[in-house]
Amino acid sequence: AIKADGITKWFGEGEVRTAALRDVNLEMRFGEMIYVVGPSGSGKTTLLSVLSGILRPDAGTVIAEKMNLWTLTTDELAAFRLNKIGFAFQDYHLFPRLTVAENVAIPLILKHIEWDKAIEEAMKYLEIVGLKGRANLPPVKLSGGEQQRVAIARAIVGQPDILIMDEPTASLDGDTGRAIVSFVKEKVLNENRCILIVTHDSRIYEFATRILHMEDGRLRSEEDGRHDEN
Ligand code: ATP
Repeated sequence: AIKADGITKWFGEGEVRTAALRDVNLEMRFGEMIYVVGPSGSGKTTLLSVLSGILRPDAGTVIAEKMNLWTLTTDELAAFRLNKIGFAFQDYHLFPRLTVAENVAIPLILKHIEWDKAIEEAMKYLEIVGLKGRANLPPVKLSGGEQQRVAIARAIVGQPDILIMDEPTASLDGDTGRAIVSFVKEKVLNENRCILIVTHDSRIYEFATRILHMEDGRLRSEEDGRHDEN
């Protein structure tokens, strides 16, 4: 579970200073799969970065799993991110010098899981996203959609309590996107886990348990997005 209170984040200085987030409040409970939708530049990626401990807000608190993120030490924050959070970046952030399988195995290797075991586990997740045959290639040999699937596999390989995905279906065709999000919901979401997704993709809205709207740095009232009774 994550609770954000009064999150404000500014970028820039002087005349170009803009508020990317304005007093944002959000509570995500375990068992929820929340989507944040809204126009380009409305602050969605900034919000994900703050909630996952990547970006420090100028004001407000983030309580994740009973910890106040921005009062943790750097080491504590790194440990929290490694152990609790899976994050799939909009632009993948794959390591070019590692193979696809090694990229997926990174969270496990950072947790000191033995190399061979980590690669073996990574292979399972690559199979799930349909990329087992690409395991030994460098990411640059893959299409954008394939790289996106690698990023998703890496985000879920450690079975995080809190899964955060930024536009996870942006480079995928409709069927692949729906299949992957549906799979992620089925396999990752349970009463001890939650998922937060930023998306423009209405083809996957049906999987949300709640849809929130972001506009000009504000998270608008929680409109009813309850398509799923699970
Ligand atoms: P998109 O859907 O296009 O990814 P978004 O809703 O995710 O957009 P953000 O990327 O969070 O929006 O950006 C919110 C605002 O903050 C924008 O005005 C953007 O220009 C600004 N911004 C974001 N990151 C930075 C940064 N590192 N430096 C300066 N301004 C930034």
